[in-house]
Amino acid sequence: MKLVASLSSSTTRTDFVKEVMKLPGGDKILDCIQCGLCAGSCPTRFSMDYSPVQLIKMIQLGMREDVLSSKTIWACATCQTCATRCPRNLDLTTLMLSLRNLAIKEDLADKRGVKPKFHKAFFDIVRKSGRLHEPTLQVRIIKKSDPKALARAAKLGLRLARKGKIRLRREKIEHTTDLSKMFEVTNEGDTE
Ligand code: SF4
Ligand code: SF4
Repeated sequence: MKLVASLSSSTTRTDFVKEVMKLPGGDKILDCIQCGLCAGSCPTRFSMDYSPVQLIKMIQLGMREDVLSSKTIWACATCQTCATRCPRNLDLTTLMLSLRNLAIKEDLADKRGVKPKFHKAFFDIVRKSGRLHEPTLQVRIIKKSDPKALARAAKLGLRLARKGKIRLRREKIEHTTDLSKMFEVTNEGDTE
């Protein structure tokens, strides 16, 4: 593993630990005893590049870029198994979600993965109109992952709309300004 090669200087290391400790789910990051229970219990470990316990060690070592560009934070299924079993009460599930938001904000999210694109598009739509609009979400994801499939998806969308299964018209809630403030407070901000 390339862990040792990308260790940060001690100042950067401390900075990243402090940054993570301020994130939801990150306050106990230094309490981890590396017992590995989280990694051993994780149902999506097979699709991660670093196991949950490795990810924690990488945070402690200040490997900001490796952590934020990892597949691990996107492979997490937020099942809560690790958080429930952790003997030091680390809320790793919440931390994974916080790291996703930070990765998107810093433009470090795994560029090949569909999940970061989904996350970004989902929150952008909800932030702007206060509710999800499935056709917009589909178009944004397909455009970025498989543009050739757009025509096929459009046909299917029209069929579904005719049957009343989806609404093509995008609706907005009344108080989108209040919603924007909520996003600012929760640090979701502008995802564009
Ligand atoms: S279960 Fe908790 S203490 Fe054990 S390695 Fe995972 S996070 Fe650390
Ligand atoms: S919450 Fe995520 S990291 Fe924790 S066990 Fe479930 S899938 Fe694995």
